[in-house]
Amino acid sequence: MIPFHSAYHSRQTHAAQLAEQAQFSGLIFNPGRSLYYLTGLQFHLMERPVVAILSIHSEPVIILPELEMSKLTGAPYPLRAFSYSDDPSTWAKAFHSGVEAAQVGNGRFGVESTSLRVLELRYLEQAAPEAGFESADEILCDLRICKSPDELWSMRKAVAIAQSALTAILPAIKPGVTEKELASELTMQLLRAGSLPEMPFSPIVASGPNSANPHAAPSDRAIAPGDLLLFDWGASCDGYISDLTRTFVIGKAEPELAKIAEIVQAANAAGCATAGPGVAAEAIDLAARRIIENAGYGKAFFHRTGHGIGLDAHETPYIRQGNRQPLRPGMTFTVEPGIYLSGIGGVRIEDNVAIHADGAEVMSNLPRSLETLG
Ligand code: ZN
Ligand code: ZN
Repeated sequence: MIPFHSAYHSRQTHAAQLAEQAQFSGLIFNPGRSLYYLTGLQFHLMERPVVAILSIHSEPVIILPELEMSKLTGAPYPLRAFSYSDDPSTWAKAFHSGVEAAQVGNGRFGVESTSLRVLELRYLEQAAPEAGFESADEILCDLRICKSPDELWSMRKAVAIAQSALTAILPAIKPGVTEKELASELTMQLLRAGSLPEMPFSPIVASGPNSANPHAAPSDRAIAPGDLLLFDWGASCDGYISDLTRTFVIGKAEPELAKIAEIVQAANAAGCATAGPGVAAEAIDLAARRIIENAGYGKAFFHRTGHGIGLDAHETPYIRQGNRQPLRPGMTFTVEPGIYLSGIGGVRIEDNVAIHADGAEVMSNLPRSLETLG
């Protein structure tokens, strides 16, 4: 099912406006989040190229393998399709026809520099030798940055799915169970709670000293009394993601671990409380960081405070020092301060925040204090 039928046309119009302002003749997309955002179409990146051309001079054009044509059925906007067979010698012809229909000519077209591959680029260059293909990353990060009420609904749902999945596994956590076992149980509960199978990222389950590594992968380590146990996980709803972190303790916490948990909770609260329309993104980072620095743990908080979320698990706006970008209604991002004590353990608390005209909404609400498990 393609959600948000009515939205695609206005999204494509918005993209065309951004392109025109940047003096592009159009934008070219290959499979990925932006193509999904603009058309509702999802393809896997594979050896057969798929390219959509949104030209300001013509109707949208898509070049794709015949076997993907059925995905276009019922597309609620005009779209001219040029398909090719499994025989690679037919591909260049489809590109020629598609590029002609989109009136690419000698225009200057914007592409996603981190997404378009040499594969697609060569076919485009061959079909339109006089055209220019340049990075449009600067305008594209603005395209999806402010979420509509429909998108916010999906994001709240993705938060709710993630929260109920974690809640479901907590009673089974006791010493002896391994990080990998908990990660697979959490993944199963995410699916059961309604997440799309394509998760935003694989859950991080990190216990004891492993929790001091912000990007730890679940290991065969069995959790033990006194361990911190950190979950960083998320769900996907309509392609929109959630990204949360909570930290627990198995049995009784050493005094220093209990102390850093309180500091991180205060830093998370200060970051969330600072969020609002017109506030510079960096102000949230500064508010959270100040709490941790004042408590003497500044060096143990060595990453930025957050990142934008939406269709991507990492997108603009970035919540870091130096980003003076004012927050606007519809922007969504994480607030995730942490303190990491090498060889001992780490605490991170991550929430998902949406900016509204009259303030900020913290979409996640699982308890943030250091709860005891086991
Ligand atoms: Zn996370
Ligand atoms: Zn995150």
